[in-house]
Amino acid sequence: MIPDPDEAPVRVLVHELFAEHGKIKRVARILNERGYRTRRGAAFTDTTIARLLEDPTAKGVHRVNYTRTDDRKGAWVHKPESEWVYQSVPAIISDELWDRCASRQKQIAPGRGAVHLFAGFAYCACGQKMYVWANSPKYICSACRNKIPVDDLEEVFRAQLSQFLLSPSEIAAHAQAASEAVREKEALVQSVEADLKKASGESDKLYALYMADGITKEEFARAHRPVVERRSQLEDELPRLEAELDFLKIGIVSREAALSDARDLASRWGSLPFPEKRQIIETITDRVVIGKGEVDITLLYTPSAIPAGKATHAQGFIAATSWKRAG
Ligand SMILES: [Zn+2]
Repeated sequence: MIPDPDEAPVRVLVHELFAEHGKIKRVARILNERGYRTRRGAAFTDTTIARLLEDPTAKGVHRVNYTRTDDRKGAWVHKPESEWVYQSVPAIISDELWDRCASRQKQIAPGRGAVHLFAGFAYCACGQKMYVWANSPKYICSACRNKIPVDDLEEVFRAQLSQFLLSPSEIAAHAQAASEAVREKEALVQSVEADLKKASGESDKLYALYMADGITKEEFARAHRPVVERRSQLEDELPRLEAELDFLKIGIVSREAALSDARDLASRWGSLPFPEKRQIIETITDRVVIGKGEVDITLLYTPSAIPAGKATHAQGFIAATSWKRAG
């Protein structure tokens, strides 16, 4: 087992950020804001960060035989510590950094407070975010008092999960649309690179002309200024485009994974532990809009019906579900 050259720097960063900030949530937010994604291409969640911080592989100690699947629930649980087996692997972080993280972790109060499944995703039809208040298990809109019981919303989502799934041919069409978006972006990167080369060429030509006394110093300055401006714009643009391209490529992988997993997930939903449910919601959901007796779930991926090139936008598609109020 050797460190993955792409993943190792991110794992180091997770530890460094945690040692600095001491908050799992903040580490997840910073990584996501900087465009980092997990190995599967998903956004970092609290659970992912907690798991990475807990995993001693980073300091060169690889644990094996330390988890098993719960037979009844299918969930992932720790085995007794006495059964764990350790292997020595190349370390990617220092003992000092590991210890600093461990000491910061001790400062965190136990029981980090459960997040509600749809926290941050639940919106009222009136546009307000909906929150679960401490005294009742309902998402409530503070503006218009619209509400939905947490269990009802979860059931609507679960019931829709299987319908979110597209057929294999639709998934293939989606992948094609996404890869066309990648090709477009790649072409854009190439054209910016070509423009940049051209601008350098113009710059060189002007300079040669000036050196050969073909133009005056003032003429050189006047002609050269726009070329310099153009170059600096392109030089700013290029890294941004390259980052967007990476983001598109990562997005394809993560959505494909979510799509192919979803069929299975719909049937297993009831037995999934909270963090997994939350991660699924975070991976595929754009927003959930709760109306009067109706729930609209907008996903982050687009169906093949939407033309290529738009596949990267988060228009999603809407699964409108009638939801009968119980009582
Ligand atoms: Zn409202």
